[in-house]
Amino acid sequence: MDKKRQQYRCAICGYIYDPENGGRIGSIPAGTAFEDLPDEWTCPICGSDKSQFKPTISRPMYQPPK
Ligand SMILES: [Zn+2]
Repeated sequence: MDKKRQQYRCAICGYIYDPENGGRIGSIPAGTAFEDLPDEWTCPICGSDKSQFKPTISRPMYQPPK
């Protein structure tokens, strides 16, 4: 798992933090992994703290075997 690409989803409002975009609303530069966000970072939509964010599964289209 490449943590630099790991997306995290806010459990409250559904906002997804994407490391490739960084915190577009805040002052987080693109390429910042969620783990590297400052502890005082909060969801830009609803203001929840980092503890409310859960990793999301983001993977290429999976073709199930028949
Ligand atoms: Zn939120």
